[in-house]
Amino acid sequence: MNSPKYQILLYYCYAKIENAAEFAETHLKFCKELGIKGRIIVADEGLNGTVSGTPEQCKIYMDTVHADPRFAHTDFKVDASDTHAFHKIFVRYKPEIVHLGLRNGNDVDPTVKTGKHINGEEFLNLKEQDDVVVLDVRSNYEHMVGKFKNAITLDIENFRDFPQKINELEHLKGKKIITYCTGGIKCEKASALLLENGFEDVYQLHGGIIKYAQETGGKDFEGVCYVFDNRVTVPVNKVNPVIISKCHHCGTETPRMVNCSNPECNEHLPMCENCGWEYEGACSSSCKEHPRKRTYDGTGYYAKPGVLADNSSCVV
Ligand SMILES: [Zn+2]
Ligand SMILES: [Zn+2]
Repeated sequence: MNSPKYQILLYYCYAKIENAAEFAETHLKFCKELGIKGRIIVADEGLNGTVSGTPEQCKIYMDTVHADPRFAHTDFKVDASDTHAFHKIFVRYKPEIVHLGLRNGNDVDPTVKTGKHINGEEFLNLKEQDDVVVLDVRSNYEHMVGKFKNAITLDIENFRDFPQKINELEHLKGKKIITYCTGGIKCEKASALLLENGFEDVYQLHGGIIKYAQETGGKDFEGVCYVFDNRVTVPVNKVNPVIISKCHHCGTETPRMVNCSNPECNEHLPMCENCGWEYEGACSSSCKEHPRKRTYDGTGYYAKPGVLADNSSCVV
């Protein structure tokens, strides 16, 4: 077997960081010297990142993070890749690693209270029980291309809309709830918030869909998993895969996801290969004619340094 040319690391760690803004600067310097690329958020409450590099660079990166006692328990999800998953390295300070928008002491602290962590095998067993519901805490454009069979999804554009949706889940009180997301980071807060709101038996899929795929082969995950790097989506299920998304233009089944090539629209949509080229990656004729339209290269992914400014929870 050939060893992979690159690795993609996905990780988060909730841990108190004093002077987080300063730490972000030092960390950026370290990443630049090491030569890894990606996006990292440093907040008072912890670290969150997706980075890519050679296996050697990635090993040094993981060892260095683990050597810091605050981050010793960080769980890295490691994927093999033929190329870098990013064009540059960004390390940004943000108030939160995942933005929930709760203010004034109403915020949840997953290091104090959060849902019970379960691994892929435990998830497979638990979700078959009668009194169990599986809850997808991700946004529309994510569960549109892939989700667990029979999972409950929420009509949200952004994770910060999650708290307002909790009242729609009132009828599920008394059941066991398992939350899941891409890499596990959102579930730390989402499950904590459910507990806070009177849901008593709350579990979270530890390491999210990405780790589940590695642990179990991805059984019962329908579609593909949206990711926040230039792969756009990754396959999950090798056991019983199906496609659940349809091309926005022609309606053919397709697991491909693109961001509209008009930067002012940037809508995330499923789009088949043919329509991608025909519409030049745009979601509509008007977006196709937009003067600032970006050049479609067949991926539908655009390196956008501004993305973190707009959406702090975009890493995992
Ligand atoms: Zn199409
Ligand atoms: Zn558009």
